[in-house]
Amino acid sequence: MNPLRELWEAVIYFLFPPRCPVCREIVDERYQLCPACEEKILRVDFYKQPPPPLDKVLRLTRYRGGSRDLLRKLKFDNNLGVLPPLRRILDDVSGREEILQLLKGVDFAVAVPLHQGRFKERGFNQTEEIFGEWLAKKNLPLRNFLIRTRATPRLYNLGKAEREKILGGAFAAAEQVDLHGKTILIVDDIFTTGTTCKECANVLKSLGAEKIFVLAFAADFRENF
Ligand SMILES: [Zn+2]
Repeated sequence: MNPLRELWEAVIYFLFPPRCPVCREIVDERYQLCPACEEKILRVDFYKQPPPPLDKVLRLTRYRGGSRDLLRKLKFDNNLGVLPPLRRILDDVSGREEILQLLKGVDFAVAVPLHQGRFKERGFNQTEEIFGEWLAKKNLPLRNFLIRTRATPRLYNLGKAEREKILGGAFAAAEQVDLHGKTILIVDDIFTTGTTCKECANVLKSLGAEKIFVLAFAADFRENF
């Protein structure tokens, strides 16, 4: 490397050392979680009894502390600056046994869609932003034929029964696709009661899909994992 450039990078590193995106502790590499935050946040594990019609549900982090803060900044403050640390978490867990087990036999992925109005307001689908590049690296196409047929209120403070009522029939396929024999991976940012993913899965299974797996960036149902 050019010695001037090397010196410049050393100065930048000294002035702006890479910091943990959650607690601002200095870390070795940019966008990396510090060991304490990693320990608190990372929970790569399968849902013990996935709610039908979901066949497998894997989460990567707890929806707590740092992970929740990062996702909220993305979703509610439209802060795209949190994407590199979120993507870094995905890259860091990429080789784990659970991930390999989940992706085995998957034909393609779909992201939980936003309603058009919400999409326009936010300007991006946060789930596609988090998972898009990673899925491409895994050679899994992300197909976006699912649509949200009606605007739904924000669900984060609602219980399971209310969510089911609001989300019933809220998703559809934008085109007639034959999914017979297909195993499809739904990617989602936050898995709470699973109602959203179950509704998407119902649509996919009605088109013939054989198995539906879910990869959730965050979930916090301790008793189910
Ligand atoms: Zn930290």
